Amino acid sequence: MKEMIRLEGLVKSFGDLKVLKGIDLVVQESEVVCLVGASGSGKSTLLRCLNFLEENNGGKIYIEGKAVDPKNDDLNKIREKVGMVFQHFNLFPHMTVLENVIEAPVQVKKVPKEQAIREAKELLLKVGLEEKEDVYPGKLSGGQKQRVAIARALAMKPDIMLFDEATSALDPELVEEVLRTMRGLAEEGMTMVVVTHEMNFAREVADTVVFLHDGNIIEKAPAEQFFTNPQQPQTQSFLQTAV
Ligand code: ADP
Ligand code: MG
Repeated sequence: MKEMIRLEGLVKSFGDLKVLKGIDLVVQESEVVCLVGASGSGKSTLLRCLNFLEENNGGKIYIEGKAVDPKNDDLNKIREKVGMVFQHFNLFPHMTVLENVIEAPVQVKKVPKEQAIREAKELLLKVGLEEKEDVYPGKLSGGQKQRVAIARALAMKPDIMLFDEATSALDPELVEEVLRTMRGLAEEGMTMVVVTHEMNFAREVADTVVFLHDGNIIEKAPAEQFFTNPQQPQTQSFLQTAV
């Protein structure tokens, strides 16, 4: 098995506020890890550290076996391997769906435009939006926008995908179409770290569920065990309110 992510003693503070207090976590190839926990527990900060949008103050991050040195490594190269989808889609409003999807491959990776368009069309087919390629984001529903955002992240051919509450901003009836897309990716073997409040999704799709509490991982278990037999009192009370 190949280790895709390894965190050793990850610490992140904002000024005096210690947000991540020594996180150890290993994610294997094709593993789906759902990261759950109360608001403010540090979930987004952890994902942002994994994508080097935040620089950790302590500990080590290994991506695909290699320790990342934020001072000396080319973080853009590493970010190509680690795609991220946010709660708010941040699509470029003045570009069509297709233009949104090809933008990074063409501009950052210098993929020939014809090839990028061909690959983008395949991705739009995969997320069920092949008919929307010429539409501007303003004309899409939230669920459609989020699926474009997923296609856009996939266009960089990442080895790892991070999702930060990708369905939290959606109307309830639009949540399922995005979860379905995420489930499809998981089934194809994508390595995923998913912050979510969708406990049914976590239970069905995750291999491993990690519970973050006040900047520490206090429970980590196979999904079924996590939900049926949580060990820590904090996990138990979290699950009572969350499910
Ligand atoms: P979660 O995603 O679990 O809700 P976050 O990682 O967003 O939690 O936040 C954890 C804590 O870190 C919160 O107390 C939040 O206010 C604080 N925090 C997050 N980002 C910043 C920042 N850029 N500057 C200062 N504090 C921050
Ligand atoms: Mg968050």
